[in-house]
Amino acid sequence: MNTHLQTPIDYLKGVGPNRADLLRKELGIHTYQDLINLFPNRYLDRTKYFKINELQQNNAEVQVIGKLVKFEEIAQKRGKRLVATFQDDTGTMELVWFRGQKWIRDSLKLQTPYVIFGKTNFYSGKFSMPHPEMELLAEHESSLRSAMQPIYPSTEKLNNKGITNRVVNKIMQQLFVETKGRFVETLSPELLESQKLISKSEALFNIHFPKNQDLLARAQYRLKFEELFYIQLQLILKNLIHKSKIKGLPFEKVGSYFNSFYNTHLPFELTNAQKRVLKEIRQDLGSHAQMNRLLQGDVGSGKTIVAFMSMLMALDNGFQACLMAPTEILSVQHYNGLLEWCNKLNISIKLLTGSSKTSSRREIHKSLENGELQILIGTHALLEDKVKFQNLGLAIIDEQHRFGVEQRSKLWHKGPRKIDNENSTKPAIIPPHILVMTATPIPRTLAMSIYGDLDISVIDELPPGRQAIKTVHRYDKNRLDVFRFIRDEIEIGRQVYIVYPLIQESEKMDYKDLMDGYESISRDFPQPKYQISIVHGQMKAADKDFEMQRFIKGETQIMVATTVIEVGVNVPNASVMIIESAERFGLSQLHQLRGRVGRGAEQSYCILMTSHKLSSDSKTRLETMTRTNDGFDIAEVDLKLRGPGDIMGKQQSGVLNLRIADIIKDGDILKTARYYAKQVLNSDPNLSKPNNKAILFTYQQMSKYKNIWNYIS
Ligand code: ADP
Ligand code: MG
Repeated sequence: MNTHLQTPIDYLKGVGPNRADLLRKELGIHTYQDLINLFPNRYLDRTKYFKINELQQNNAEVQVIGKLVKFEEIAQKRGKRLVATFQDDTGTMELVWFRGQKWIRDSLKLQTPYVIFGKTNFYSGKFSMPHPEMELLAEHESSLRSAMQPIYPSTEKLNNKGITNRVVNKIMQQLFVETKGRFVETLSPELLESQKLISKSEALFNIHFPKNQDLLARAQYRLKFEELFYIQLQLILKNLIHKSKIKGLPFEKVGSYFNSFYNTHLPFELTNAQKRVLKEIRQDLGSHAQMNRLLQGDVGSGKTIVAFMSMLMALDNGFQACLMAPTEILSVQHYNGLLEWCNKLNISIKLLTGSSKTSSRREIHKSLENGELQILIGTHALLEDKVKFQNLGLAIIDEQHRFGVEQRSKLWHKGPRKIDNENSTKPAIIPPHILVMTATPIPRTLAMSIYGDLDISVIDELPPGRQAIKTVHRYDKNRLDVFRFIRDEIEIGRQVYIVYPLIQESEKMDYKDLMDGYESISRDFPQPKYQISIVHGQMKAADKDFEMQRFIKGETQIMVATTVIEVGVNVPNASVMIIESAERFGLSQLHQLRGRVGRGAEQSYCILMTSHKLSSDSKTRLETMTRTNDGFDIAEVDLKLRGPGDIMGKQQSGVLNLRIADIIKDGDILKTARYYAKQVLNSDPNLSKPNNKAILFTYQQMSKYKNIWNYIS
């Protein structure tokens, strides 16, 4: 029966080569199987008939019963349009055709009751309906149709070429005739039973021809569950295979570096969340499998010290560690921060970035290879081929969303080589343990789908004593008040960021805005009383660093910058973040920027400056920012505004091309599906039990026809 479903769509009665071509090009439908999986976007209630005087100006699709009373041809710029007057006992409206006029005029009958169906427009006091679907009332009454009419995804081209919703519906009916509506069950009896799911055949029938609301809902649930179940099954299997196949470097012990830091040098008490996450990491590192862990924690939650203590575990077992950050500024800051701790512990640590001098590079390369250097911090420069470790045990990536999957895999290949069996000529690489960190909170359900191959840790608690940042929205015309506020804060010893957007396409303009802003601020905050730093992408790295350092040391009170300071920068004394043209920033960027303040014990403020013209999305973003400081909350709103594909980037959005489930709305089904996928694999890891035959078969089919699961290495 299943080979049957791989039949090319051309063979279906009523399709033919032309239609088949269109279906392939426009909707990607090649086979019977593809067609059956073309699920309706929504359903219309066709039990409801409108009177003409009940029509609303909301552009919804409606169904009206009435008669054609006259036709009229009206010349227009190009060609002409055919307009018919349509009447019921409450009024008249117009039906309009721009194409196929002769045929329409000849085939439609005047003064005979029709049911018309379509979207209405309202124009100069009259309702009209372009290209309505029409059916004689007599035929309409005798035809069997479902009360809920499915509306299929479509394109303009399909519609223009006559493949209307109605035609798709007919083709679908034909498919059910030819297959007798019998489809192979894809879930196991246990799953069907435990969740009271309807069968595959029943679900497919009711998704296309719902008998009633209840069956439609059950069909949707079953198909969503199935879709999410198989995604989770694949992800979990990947993870299991990974763990069993990829040997990790065993970190047997917690040694003197870790213990001495923990017992004598810890600068503050760890939060419970930090302790929990360290425990999770420790467990991975001791497990003989390779760690692949994502550490999520909102800005300021204290990921750095967790990263450092994880590196100590590597060092304690005789391995090297590295930490890669997306920008020079951030790398420098990490380096300076960790250097202090390393000095206390007598650990060698070096910084490698694009602007490192050749001589120091050479030295770093050498000491890495001979094992003298224990910790390397840096930017993408770490990934260069010349950078070879003697025995890299742990690689950490900070702000992982700034990096691609390839970079993760490059680090992977920097692990130690071992000839583990005599016959192999090529030494195998043992990948280092990998910890990726992100302050871009990803809603849990999304994380489960996207990073299903990673284990996830969350720091969900901020260090004690932090006060929530106060966020306000101000218009450009309030600038003087804002400046006064800045002055007051500087008066009591605080520092201030002023950030300008810098978005690639309009770089020149943005750059000018930044410089204009800098000048006007310099005028309002004159030297020598005020000192101002400026940092932007067009400066040399050394200059950037110099300016940044002045601000970090407190020599300057104001930092004017572009978003280069967005990531990770830590100046606890800075208490005010002003974001210029805030309407142009995305939510996650705004949240990141705001996270630069509120790092000390003082009350901090974030001021979002905008012009008066705001799109509705901008308004939502600004309202969200002023309403909450919770990164996960903000991420949920962001997800709704932008959709998952945009957020996670192209390479990962393939996972999210779902047919029927909605990763945002169906989070509960996702959790259930994940639970059951785990359960099935726990009790039957190879899917070899007879009862799981359907699952194994479906899984194999999916891997064969739709291999979107390309992972690293
Ligand atoms: P992020 O998670 O954004 O990378 P950081 O690691 O930069 O955060 O930490 C933010 C600030 O909080 C730093 O100044 C750090 O020293 C401090 N910090 C981290 N953990 C704690 C803690 N448990 N108690 C007090 N301060 C902490
Ligand atoms: Mg950080």
